[in-house]
Amino acid sequence: MTVITLDLTPEQRALRDGVADICKRYPGEYWRALDAKREYPEAFVTDLTKAGYLAALIPEDYGGAGLGIIEGALIMETIHASGGNAAACHAQMYIMGTLLRHGSEAQKRRYLPKIATGELRLQAFGVTEPNAGSDTTKLQTTAVRQGDRYVVNGQKIFISRVLQSDLMLLLARTTSVDRVKRKTEGLSVFLVDIRGVKGLEVRPLRMMMNHSTNALFFDGMEVPAENLIGEEGRGFSYILDGMNAERILVGSESIGDGRWFVDKAVAYSRQRVIFGKPLGANQGVQFPIARAHVAVEAAALMRNKAAALFDAGEPCGPEANMAKYLAAEAAWDAGNACIDCHGGYGYAEEYDVERKFREARLYKTAPINQNLVLAYVGEHVLEMPRSY
Ligand SMILES: Cc1cc2nc3c(=O)[nH]c(=O)nc-3n(C[C@H](O)[C@H](O)[C@H](O)COP(=O)(O)OP(=O)(O)OC[C@H]3O[C@@H](n4cnc5c(N)ncnc54)[C@H](O)[C@@H]3O)c2cc1C
Repeated sequence: MTVITLDLTPEQRALRDGVADICKRYPGEYWRALDAKREYPEAFVTDLTKAGYLAALIPEDYGGAGLGIIEGALIMETIHASGGNAAACHAQMYIMGTLLRHGSEAQKRRYLPKIATGELRLQAFGVTEPNAGSDTTKLQTTAVRQGDRYVVNGQKIFISRVLQSDLMLLLARTTSVDRVKRKTEGLSVFLVDIRGVKGLEVRPLRMMMNHSTNALFFDGMEVPAENLIGEEGRGFSYILDGMNAERILVGSESIGDGRWFVDKAVAYSRQRVIFGKPLGANQGVQFPIARAHVAVEAAALMRNKAAALFDAGEPCGPEANMAKYLAAEAAWDAGNACIDCHGGYGYAEEYDVERKFREARLYKTAPINQNLVLAYVGEHVLEMPRSY
């Protein structure tokens, strides 16, 4: 039987406190300044890497800390609850799982220890395409084998952190759709060394929040065949494999956001006096904040269940999806309650509320939108007809 612990162990508390100590060195002013310029939080990510936190999930054999997903979740949550944004470095945690589970021993020995020390950064994950969107099986970017290499042509959209990474995990079509038996076949995963690679154009996109996101254009980009992960044609299932970790980690970021919004709203509505009493004494102000707190804590419980199952090696698709869904909604509602109680100040950049509000919104859309989570629950948990 899988046991869900409700309290943090002493080691987990120490982990959370260690991350929080680093976050204290990067207050709101730091994130605000980067947000205005849409710059990557290089110093913050370097500090986290040096302290070993981004190698939490890499097994000790490969130079990491060998911790569980619950510890990874705690790291992400703490960054967001401290007012920061782990989106700058979250992908490494969940995409390196593909290399770990499906890569050859030679690939793992070659890359994982360097990723653990920060010598190599793997933060870019190239899946989404303009003509495929949420329908990943319709990907059109091709990787054609020519001797000892694959030649990649096509384009991707919304691919984050490419300019800040040394390596990118890329999903591309190696067999055309009309030659596969099932639409989930024919896609392959590559670990691409993008340092100075030819045939790759990166066009940064200015987004609603600071997210280092790009459009990518591949024109004959060559990838050595030895950088294919696992078997050719099975890439879609490898990527699906990593989805539960992604849901749990991203859900944890939302839980951290939710806690930040609630703390900020409580502090402000206690001290701001209007009509002769603190704002928070009005139920119209207090209840949305209390409701948001209830929702954030409920999402955290579901996240803990998903993480406990994941770490026990049990199936956790329903729980991971539900945790991501509940957490993204809870953070969004908490953000609205926080903006509302701040009145006009909620829109003023120096309060950080509007920045966090923009950042928290993303998780209703990416890495997977809420509708597709509901479609998963409808089809796979409730056994209703497939909707797409
Ligand atoms: C800031 C940012 C960073 C990103 N970073 C990355 C990255 O690093 N790597 C990467 O590969 N991708 C990344 N993405 C892409 C992201 O994963 C996609 O935007 C997302 O998966 C949705 O795809 P789409 O935008 O094409 O929307 P579409 O697939 O066009 O869907 C649009 C909307 O329609 C609805 N919808 C779609 N299909 C259904 C359905 N069957 N049933 C009901 N409703 C449906 C959903 O509400 C959805 O939001 C990023 C996106 C953003 C905004």
